[in-house]
Amino acid sequence: MTLSGAALGSDGTIGILGGGQLGRMLALAAARLGLKCHVYSPDPQSPAFDVVRRATHGDYRDESALDSFAGDVDVVTYEFENVPAETARFLAARRPVLPDPAVLATTQDRLLEKNFIAGLQIATAPYRRIDGPADLAPALEAIGRPGVLKTRRFGYDGKGQVLIRNGDDPEAAWNAVGGAASILEAFVPFEREISVVAARGRDGRIACFDVTENEHRDHILKVARVPAEVPPAVAAEAQRIAERIAGAFDYVGVLAVEMFVVRNGTGHDVLVNEIAPRVHNSGHWTIDGASVSQFEQHVRAIAGWPLATPVRRGRVEMINLIGAEVEEYRQWLEVPGAAVHLYGKGGIRPGRKMGHVTRVTPE
Ligand code: AMP
Repeated sequence: MTLSGAALGSDGTIGILGGGQLGRMLALAAARLGLKCHVYSPDPQSPAFDVVRRATHGDYRDESALDSFAGDVDVVTYEFENVPAETARFLAARRPVLPDPAVLATTQDRLLEKNFIAGLQIATAPYRRIDGPADLAPALEAIGRPGVLKTRRFGYDGKGQVLIRNGDDPEAAWNAVGGAASILEAFVPFEREISVVAARGRDGRIACFDVTENEHRDHILKVARVPAEVPPAVAAEAQRIAERIAGAFDYVGVLAVEMFVVRNGTGHDVLVNEIAPRVHNSGHWTIDGASVSQFEQHVRAIAGWPLATPVRRGRVEMINLIGAEVEEYRQWLEVPGAAVHLYGKGGIRPGRKMGHVTRVTPE
């Protein structure tokens, strides 16, 4: 055991809340550095369980299981941002939890998140708070149509959001998101979607990966390409935005900032869409495409170890294998230069991320 706040020794143990593919890839990166991992997840079929020294299958509210977990690890992190705030607080009373649980409280709620970003004078799509159907008409009046109604909590991969076009009934949209507290956002006619994956160490040093361009299909990331085809000034602005957000949170670990690039006359505007307080799908290319992966950077940061300076190995393309596409893995195994990653998930379901393939072309 190391003392709270001190850097982990090379025999340290990292506790990971959440057992999906992100936890699995974090644990694999930690193992390469000689560190042990203990994954805590409520899902008995967690893909991360297969690759760690210890696994706890427990509910996020099971205090006795959480207490044993805390006793076994030196630092706690998460691969999943919807960890209940009380769980993070319970653990934080026993072990350092990084990034700080206060970050979760902001990023779990789209309204608080947007207010936080706007408070840093960083641009977002115009938005309004929607507490009930009566708030929609004035909000649509102010923002215009189309607008996007998004639930404040538990939205991902386009879930909990609905477009309101000309002629659409706002009340139907309210019902479609389940009548939950929401925000209405202006629809952004973006030219591209990009993201920046940034790591911030305990010493405050920040290292950004190169800007990634993201192509979605049915609201789910399908292909990520690096470098993004944006002017150097836009790339620099996107990285500055990610650095400011990480600094403002006093963040420790890896975060991803998803952004829209919008044409504005002869130039471009960069609007922040969303912050993910964790390693992110648009950073998977870093495993094969950079000298250090987002997973290793996260491990280094929370362990109190120095961050690496990432060097990209060429042009990189990362293709997600979604649902039944995972069955294409046999063909991909034969493609020269393709790196195949399968997450070991049992059940194929539409929209489920089952694996990914990375291709690197030297520049
Ligand atoms: P989100 O869950 O907010 O990340 O949204 C998922 C995807 O929906 C984004 O990656 C965009 O492709 C699209 N989207 C979300 N919000 C907007 C918006 N305000 N304008 C245009 N497209 C959006």
